Amino acid sequence: MELEKNAYRAHCLALTYPGQGHINPLLEFSKRLENKGVKVTLVTTHFISKTIHKEAATSNIALETISDGYDEGGSAQAESFKAYFESLRRVGSQTLTELLEKLSTSGCPVDCVVYDAFLPWALDVAKKFGLVGAAFFTQSCAVGNIYYHVYKGVLKVPLLETQIVLPGSPPLGAPDMPSFIYQFEISNPGFFDMLVGQFSNIDKADWVLCNTFYELEQEVVDWMAKIWPLRTIGPTIPSMFLDKRLEDDKNYGFDIFKPNTDACMKWLNGQPKGSVVYVSFGSLAAFEAEQMEEIAWGLRMSNRCFLWVVRELEEAKLPKNLVEETSEKGLVVRWCPQLEVLAHEAVGCFVTHCGWNSTLEAISFGVPMVGVPYWSDQSTNLKYIVDVWKMGLKAPADEKGIVRREAAEHCIREIIEGERGKEIKKNAFKWRKLAKEAVDESGSSDKNIEEFVAILVHS
Ligand code: UDP
Repeated sequence: MELEKNAYRAHCLALTYPGQGHINPLLEFSKRLENKGVKVTLVTTHFISKTIHKEAATSNIALETISDGYDEGGSAQAESFKAYFESLRRVGSQTLTELLEKLSTSGCPVDCVVYDAFLPWALDVAKKFGLVGAAFFTQSCAVGNIYYHVYKGVLKVPLLETQIVLPGSPPLGAPDMPSFIYQFEISNPGFFDMLVGQFSNIDKADWVLCNTFYELEQEVVDWMAKIWPLRTIGPTIPSMFLDKRLEDDKNYGFDIFKPNTDACMKWLNGQPKGSVVYVSFGSLAAFEAEQMEEIAWGLRMSNRCFLWVVRELEEAKLPKNLVEETSEKGLVVRWCPQLEVLAHEAVGCFVTHCGWNSTLEAISFGVPMVGVPYWSDQSTNLKYIVDVWKMGLKAPADEKGIVRREAAEHCIREIIEGERGKEIKKNAFKWRKLAKEAVDESGSSDKNIEEFVAILVHS
């Protein structure tokens, strides 16, 4: 039964960017809003809504869709990313307008649009309806700060400097920059425009919400909060893992890929504490076969048990007999319930591409990382993991950009049994505690969400 407006304190429409790493953070934020008495309608594209594993979708959050102009195949159907992004803007604005019109006569009209910062046009639509507009950033503030300085023209691309000094950040080497900046010449211009375009109308946003927590990125948050009404609201890890105030919810998120939950958890249950190397490169990274082979050898040489997520499309890149030859030591799956895996006490090390969600998840569960970045903001995240949060190691690459087996093996051994590993584990423990405190009652992120809701209710 549709609840009337007066049963809720306010109604937020939460518009996601159509990607695995974008939907769950906004869904989890939506649940936190709902827990504070706000009705939330989560909006994805028609195509993505069809691919989501619905059995994972619970809670009272309503679901609606807009169109990106490619309802049958999403971005894969478009001739280029630029063409896709342009269609998403044009058709998305139009269908979002239609959705807001429909909801305006529903008995529970929308008060606020929380939109993924990759979709700044949603703010223009929200403002036409006189609604509150809140940008939602699913990357770190450190990375947002870099794109902002490119947008402002302070940081010029192609990069001329070898060392980049920005307010609120430690000095960064050029290779620590996001790939769309460091390798600007060879990167896809569509992505560059999207990332820098996040700031095109941000001065009109009523709120800038970031999936990070204050204690993790204090300096850069303080700096950015001088320019915008910026609030940290993360980490958006589901309540069942971090925050027992909220109702435990086994089905905590949306998966675009189907996780092999039973096999993973059964296998992990049989492994000793802190012994397993978990390997995953997220939903998009597509390393060369040579790199996959080196990782496979590194795992074997480390002599550790491993759980490796290799997406179906990547499977052909694995060494032919890896699965048979390592069946006693390793389990290779197409997708796993990563949060449950990272929360499992058997996992002692995470070999990761350093996507922002994976990074935040590892921080929240206190799992030390070995970073093998692929592209985008991953090198920047890795720089912070190693030098600022001191929670992991960078697996050094050779002149071809490949992390060789010896380097992978060395980093894994160092984390699990080495001296540096001890210090890293101590830091990991510290960050886990701080992440949990941030979302607990009266923690920094919880207070920010409270403030957001309170002002929404009174506006
Ligand atoms: N993930 C998962 N199962 C897997 C691998 C990844 O559930 O087997 C989730 C992971 O928990 C994270 C997201 O997929 O929330 C990946 O996001 P991230 O930002 O780390 O990387 P991206 O996929 O955007 O490159």
